[in-house]
Parts: sequence; C-alpha cells; structure tokens
Amino acid sequence: MNNKSILITGSTSGIGRGIAHYFAKRNYHIMINGLADKKDIDILMDDLKKCGAASILYDNADMCDNAAIARMVRRAEDEFSGLYILVNNAGIQHVAPVEEFPEEKWQQILQINLSAAFYATRAIVPFMKGRKTGRIINIASAHGLVASPYKSAYVAAKHGVIGLTKTVALELATHGITCNAICPGFVHTPLVDNQIAAQQSAHGLSADKVVEDIILASQPTKKFVGIDEVAAMAHYLASDAAKSVTGASLQIDGGWVAR
Ligand code: NAD
Repeated sequence: MNNKSILITGSTSGIGRGIAHYFAKRNYHIMINGLADKKDIDILMDDLKKCGAASILYDNADMCDNAAIARMVRRAEDEFSGLYILVNNAGIQHVAPVEEFPEEKWQQILQINLSAAFYATRAIVPFMKGRKTGRIINIASAHGLVASPYKSAYVAAKHGVIGLTKTVALELATHGITCNAICPGFVHTPLVDNQIAAQQSAHGLSADKVVEDIILASQPTKKFVGIDEVAAMAHYLASDAAKSVTGASLQIDGGWVAR
C-alpha cells in the first residue's frame, strides 16, 4: 500500500490543479483528471513531474459518466497499488434566478458537484476498508453552509456534499478512514473569473469594482483565499495528525460564515 498516492478530480485548473502541485512538491503519486486539451495536459503533467511528483497519471473520466468515474478510481487503485487519498474537487457553477434556472444546468451541477463525489467514494471505499486506512476529502464551499441568491443548484449541491461527507464519515469511522469537507470562500480561479465577467456585463462595472463590491462583499477579510491555503488544508487532512478529524466541514473563507 502506498500512502503517498492521491487522485484529484477536476485538477486541470484552479483549486484541483493547486492541490496537485502541492502534493507533487511532496513527492506523491498523483492521478489528475479534468477537461482540457491534450497539449495542456501534457504540459501540466510535465510540470508536476518537475515539481517532484513520484509518478503522474491523467484520466479523462467525465464527471457526468458514472461508469467512467468508477473506472478511473479502479485504475488509480491498480496503478498505485492502493489509492490512499481521494479528493472530490470537480465542480461547475451557473448563476440565475430559480424560476429561470435552466433544467440542464441544474442536472449538470448536481451531477458534477455532488453525484460524482458519491460515485468516486462508492468505488474506492471497498479498497480503503480492506486496508483499514484512507482519506476522502470533498471540496465543498462556504455555499455548503450558507446560501446566496441565484445559486440554487450550486448551494443545493454543496449542502448535499456536506451531508454525504458526514454520512460517509460515520459509516467509516471504525475503519481507519476519514471523510471531511473543505469549505472555501472565494478563491481566484477560472470558475470565479466567469462570475466576474458575468457581473461586469450585468452591471457595467470594472472587474476591480465587481471584485470589491460584489464578489468579496461577503468575505470580511476582503481578500481571496489562496489556492495554496486550500491545498495545505487538504494536506493536513491527509496527514496522520488529522486521523481523528472526520465528518468535519472546515471553513477557509476569510470569515464569511462567521457573519
Ligand atoms: P475551475 O473551473 O478552475 O476548475 C474546475 C475543474 O473541474 C477543471 O479541472 C475542470 O476541467 C473540471 N471539470 C468540470 N467539469 C468536469 C467534468 N464534467 N468532468 C471532469 N472534470 C470536470 O474551478 P475551481 O474554482 O478550481 O473549483 C474547484 C472546486 O472548488 C469546485 O468544486 C468548486 O465548487 C469549489 N469551490 C471553488 C471556490 C472558488 O471560489 N473558486 C470556492 C468554493 C468552492
């Protein structure tokens, strides 16, 4: 069993990519996943290798394809001779009033942000149970704990991720396996860039003004959370020091949820 092995869904961009770099620098065996051009994936894999990854694999499983998710997990388990850490990170966003929320966006957000985590968890648990060790880390959101208008699907999915986290933690508590959720506030990634662009065109504001007045309005520090800060929390949850931390929803949100 290799306890330095990690699979991160949605790791070709943003937070997932940052977690991959963080663990690469600490010599982990890493499987990345996500939607990107082959050229960009090759560059990313090369970069992770140069950062120190013990080995690096890419799997193109679409988080909308439940069978592909299970195959990817099985592949990581086989190729690493045991997958120790699963990070369910892939996610998308869509913003619209509830009565106008497109049905296909609702389905897609629930699938990618919530159901994909269930299918990946379901696939790895028998192996982790067999070894009596493992770490499942779900990237939820401050929106798993509180709501904002126009994000019905995202908020519902992220609240669901926290429910899934607690249930899995209870089921696995005596098996040496922890399951926790990380709840970031706003982190400057392409997912947030899309929201900045949408707000700019809706309100005719500059990007800086949107960030200051709208995006970071709910974040008391008035600063984005750093990608490396989220990655460091994932690294802590993966460590032996966190073996009694399970079923937790850890906020890293600049004080947002304290309001
Ligand atoms: P991002 O857009 O930068 O990255 C999303 C990743 O998910 C990409 O690698 C993308 O290819 C992958 N992905 C999307 N759809 C997929 C699919 N169908 N199959 C496989 N991969 C798919 O976004 P991010 O901001 O890094 O978000 C990562 C996670 O963090 C998400 O779950 C998001 O909800 C959560 N989060 C983000 C923020 C933030 O402010 N950025 C805050 C809280 C939580």
